[in-house]
Amino acid sequence: MTALISFNGVLDPPWRAAPDPGEQPKPGTPSGLPVWGEDATAVLVCRQVQDVTDDVRTFLFQADEPALFQHDAGQFVTLNLEIDGRAVSRCYTISSPPTRPHLLGITVKRQPDGLVSNWLHDTMAPGTRISADGPFGVFTAARHPSAKYLFLSAGSGITPLMSMTRTMYDLGSDADIVFLHSARTPSDIIFRRELEMMASTVPTLHVAHVCERDAPRDPWGGLRGLLTADMLPLVAPDLTERVVFCCGPAPYMAAVRQMLLDRGFDMQNYHEESFSFGDLTVQEFPSPPGTQAATDDEVGDDGTGGDGARTVARTFTVEFARSGQTFTCGDDENVLDAAYAAGLTPPSSCGQGMCGTCKTTVLSGTVDMQHNGGIRPREIAQSKVLICCSKPLSDLTIDS
Ligand SMILES: Cc1cc2nc3c(=O)[nH]c(=O)nc-3n(C[C@H](O)[C@H](O)[C@H](O)COP(=O)(O)OP(=O)(O)OC[C@H]3O[C@@H](n4cnc5c(N)ncnc54)[C@H](O)[C@@H]3O)c2cc1C
Repeated sequence: MTALISFNGVLDPPWRAAPDPGEQPKPGTPSGLPVWGEDATAVLVCRQVQDVTDDVRTFLFQADEPALFQHDAGQFVTLNLEIDGRAVSRCYTISSPPTRPHLLGITVKRQPDGLVSNWLHDTMAPGTRISADGPFGVFTAARHPSAKYLFLSAGSGITPLMSMTRTMYDLGSDADIVFLHSARTPSDIIFRRELEMMASTVPTLHVAHVCERDAPRDPWGGLRGLLTADMLPLVAPDLTERVVFCCGPAPYMAAVRQMLLDRGFDMQNYHEESFSFGDLTVQEFPSPPGTQAATDDEVGDDGTGGDGARTVARTFTVEFARSGQTFTCGDDENVLDAAYAAGLTPPSSCGQGMCGTCKTTVLSGTVDMQHNGGIRPREIAQSKVLICCSKPLSDLTIDS
């Protein structure tokens, strides 16, 4: 029987025709397919490996049991791998669109000395089986319908925007997309030919690239250098009418934010996703009130207080019950960060409360958890938490 792998998608975009889980399957009609694996783990079998650029490959997977995949364009999966006897998890955007549900694709750039990206490039071959959780994430145009978009990406940050573009193209969407991608050289432009093909066949997709320099056998005649503020109105004169999705390295996204702010762009229409573990803060634009330094009222009982300045946060003890390790964690600190500071390495991946890799159970105590969809209400009711986005409200004992 063919199943529909939905993982835990949160929306119901127009391309999705999810059946009522209790409904009987109607063979031959996609809308009649049962939802399979609501709890989010799938065994994937590599079907094909595609060379995209010199250091980027797409890996296409099918489900172990015949199935169709269902996600929102822009979401990601967490791969759970065992490499050299060590369990490792990494997040990868589903670069394939939900409109092509027979295969799930990820597009991976080799990182110098990177454990998983190199393992995938060197080891993954048709027939290799892996386990994945997901999909996760809220970086998707499905949540922000608009007549006009501006997609800005750099390097491997192109993958979620490519999934969104492929989806809108497949659906014959009349949304107008300006897609501006930054690469080192023309040879490093990921999906260059596919983007050109799509842009050449529909009037609603406009693609431009910015390259830092020529490639040895591929000179570049387009926009050159790093992305600058002057380039934005060149490709999108109606910039302020667009919803912006941005994905790339942290300095690139910081520069984009500044360019948009300088142009008076309404940052409510700006959405970004970070791939880097070092940039784990969830950004709000502009910063909402209350995110500044705490006031006297917020200083804990053991704070020294005085003159409106924040002094000492309350500190709690966290015990990892299974390993017997104990560490301290301030009430302004996520448990995961405190664990890392104490030299522990609990499993984690996105660090943003989305992927679920750090999910565990609180055996005693309470936390303030600010997640981004990586945990379900019924799991919370079972005392499960994501420690990457949970601050202690008391001493804690955690099943880890
Ligand atoms: C939501 C999300 C979606 C993502 N989607 C994609 C995608 O579509 N495509 C993609 O290619 N990537 C994507 N990523 C990034 C991906 O998850 C991995 O982070 C990336 O592939 C690197 O993993 P790695 O195991 O190869 O490198 P790691 O082993 O994690 O190392 C990363 C880098 O840090 C350096 N490093 C490692 N350890 C140290 C150390 N102790 N000191 C100093 N430097 C160190 C390494 O040299 C390497 O350059 C995504 C990430 C997130 C959070």
